[in-house]
Amino acid sequence: MRTSCPICKSRSHKILKTMRFAIPEYFHLPNHYDVVVCADCGFCFAATEAAMEDYEHYYEVCNFYSGVPEESEGKLMLDQKLAGLVEKVVSPEDSLLDIGFGAGNLLRLLKQKGFHNIFGLDPSEDSVARIREEGITAYLGSVFDEPDGSLRRRFDCVLLIAVLEHLLYPESSVRHISDYLKEGGKLIISVPNYADLFDDCSLIANHFNQEHINYFSPVSLDNLLNANGFYKMENSDANVGDMGTEVLAVYCYTSNKRSFERVKDDVCHKSIAEFFKRNDNLEKAIDEEILSSNLYASSLCTRGGGVQCENVSLLKTHASEHEYKRPVYIWGTGAYTMWLLTNTLVGKLNIKAFIDNNPTRVGKELDGKRIISPDEIEPDIPIIVCVMKCPEKVADQIERSGITNPYYLLRGTHREGV
Ligand SMILES: [Zn+2]
Repeated sequence: MRTSCPICKSRSHKILKTMRFAIPEYFHLPNHYDVVVCADCGFCFAATEAAMEDYEHYYEVCNFYSGVPEESEGKLMLDQKLAGLVEKVVSPEDSLLDIGFGAGNLLRLLKQKGFHNIFGLDPSEDSVARIREEGITAYLGSVFDEPDGSLRRRFDCVLLIAVLEHLLYPESSVRHISDYLKEGGKLIISVPNYADLFDDCSLIANHFNQEHINYFSPVSLDNLLNANGFYKMENSDANVGDMGTEVLAVYCYTSNKRSFERVKDDVCHKSIAEFFKRNDNLEKAIDEEILSSNLYASSLCTRGGGVQCENVSLLKTHASEHEYKRPVYIWGTGAYTMWLLTNTLVGKLNIKAFIDNNPTRVGKELDGKRIISPDEIEPDIPIIVCVMKCPEKVADQIERSGITNPYYLLRGTHREGV
């Protein structure tokens, strides 16, 4: 169980919010954690009951990053920005290691740009096998392990993109990462900027979910890295559309101890508290949305502009007695759905099955119900689309693949008009 601050080791903290999710059993992760702020250094993190081996299991077995290439606009934008940053500080001859490369999009992009001395390290056998097929050398390994002898002090640059926010013990990981670098080597990092949630109107599960357990700001990132021989060369914020704001930073590594002063982060917890405050009424708003969605009307849905139906008022009046007995499908089994199941009426619906395109999830269970592929959908049963990013893509898939079931896109209405 992680209760002391991963950066300064202080045991004193304040709880900002307790998060609850419906976590599938095969994840081996707890279904709740406290989001806390360290009283000493101001770092915000999840005080979670999960142990190291739980997360190792999760990222080895429940790897969702290799199978489906990430196509979100924000991710593509971030990859372009990162490639630009690499071109600026690393030459094409330099050796470069992408740790936790996942689907490998950035490695692929760098290869296209003429970088030929590039390597990957990832805990997923799938990810490693896939990128090797494309002629990029990749190693199976975890950021928690000591580097293999042949890889020590070998690289001019290490990329750590969308990794640090996932790690239970970021400090020991950063120490291992420094072992891959030559003296004076560069570390290029990208993490979500939790000090910049003041205007963020995304859904709560976008930032607080079973994977994101460290909530960095530029200040806390410095605190972590300065203590481990890294000093910052360059820093920039990148607004990456549907993903929010990222901190992109380039650090230089030296094995000579440099003195540093830890700076208390006073902004991040305020940014997070404001984000939570804005989300306070979200549960209620989503319940309202479900009740007024024409969910059970046979002619319901957004299809053809939506048809008004008397069943809406019926459902509203008799909501409690009705108990939502008619079966529905839920499309989507990600962090948003796990949050909806525990915090909204979605958890009270009579769910026949969950639908997911991701082959690594099909056949598994969530909340005691089977996860099926779109091919297995039975006719007439309404589908509620619970997808955080681009639900329109699912609507498009439904329309194009000739699925005639009524469907409804559950968006979370607090985002409207913002
Ligand atoms: Zn601390």
